[in-house]
Amino acid sequence: MINLVVGAGFSGATIARKLAEDMNEKVIIIDAKAHIAGNAYDYRDRNGIMIHQYGSHIFHTNLENVWQFIRRFTDFNTYMHKVIAVIDGIETTIPFNFRTLYDVFPETMAKRMEEKLLAHFEYNKKVPILEFQKQDDDDLKFLANYVYEKVFLHYTTKQWGVSPNEVDGAVTARVPVYLSCDPRYFQDKYQGIPSEGYAQTVKNMLDHPNIELRLNTKFSDFKGTYDRLFYTGPIDEFFDYKYGELPYRSVNFKLEELDIPYYQSNAVVNYPCNYDFTRIHEYKYYLNDQSDRTVIAKEYSEAFKRGKNDRYYPIPNENNAALYQKYLDEAKYLSNTYFLGRLGDYKYYDMDKAINRALELFEQIKGE
Ligand code: UDP
Repeated sequence: MINLVVGAGFSGATIARKLAEDMNEKVIIIDAKAHIAGNAYDYRDRNGIMIHQYGSHIFHTNLENVWQFIRRFTDFNTYMHKVIAVIDGIETTIPFNFRTLYDVFPETMAKRMEEKLLAHFEYNKKVPILEFQKQDDDDLKFLANYVYEKVFLHYTTKQWGVSPNEVDGAVTARVPVYLSCDPRYFQDKYQGIPSEGYAQTVKNMLDHPNIELRLNTKFSDFKGTYDRLFYTGPIDEFFDYKYGELPYRSVNFKLEELDIPYYQSNAVVNYPCNYDFTRIHEYKYYLNDQSDRTVIAKEYSEAFKRGKNDRYYPIPNENNAALYQKYLDEAKYLSNTYFLGRLGDYKYYDMDKAINRALELFEQIKGE
């Protein structure tokens, strides 16, 4: 059996490794780009700073099988991600939590809100903003409107180009109001940054005698035969956009190299209310890279346009789900062809979920 895997990101690399290792089958993996690791790609720049070319990637998971799998290819540092947001000029933690109350409100007011929250909600509960807005108490109503306005409204409008009500609830629920003092962005059991970076991790995954990697190779240019196809590229592109294009958001990173050791106090600082960019990344924090200089990236969200920029975020909503379903129905007629990954499944996967999806697909194939 020869397998062709299109796309050398986490999804493609996971399925490739499993086929090569567990089934002892040949795998050719191709990528249209000149590098592996997809949007998780990173590299060390001339200052020795590991740059996440497509924006910050933080590995986090509660999935034991995914953790066991990825740990074979990399060590992780003990980094726990926090996000700072600047709200009315005050630096505080995101998601909005009990500490945030004391950062942005006078103490007596913060205490009153805290008591009311504890009376209304269970401690440690995560409440999506759209649900949090359904409050009767005046203080809590004020708080819900405050959080909506200061954290979600403008950020989400910048990020998605529409108001939060038009964005699928699952997206804004990624950053809920957190009734806790835990300042971390993720509560997952396992989290960290690969010690040698993401590109090296994927390289290690692909380092197997049964795997052949071909970069700068589009699927349409691929010459050769194969028995099974695993396609992690855009499913609409595969079908020549016959039902229309699946929309995506793209991101533009403006990199700045600065002659100062540090620019900001944290790896990611969100600007939910000000400026055109959504956030600023300062990459040296991830692996604690030592340099007299620093590199930051200002993140500007924009619509995806074919041939102009890259796909980053599928846009989950009813229309797009219906369009995706048409392609999925079409895909059912193909034999030995499987779609996976953010672009193949048109799903807003985190890295661990993309790996898990590939592991599950592998189990399915093994049983066929
Ligand atoms: N979000 C927001 N304000 C913030 C951070 C996030 O409104 O300060 C919303 C926004 O709609 C965003 C979504 O929550 O698209 C998910 O954010 P997350 O940080 O998970 O996005 P990612 O890191 O995947 O780009």
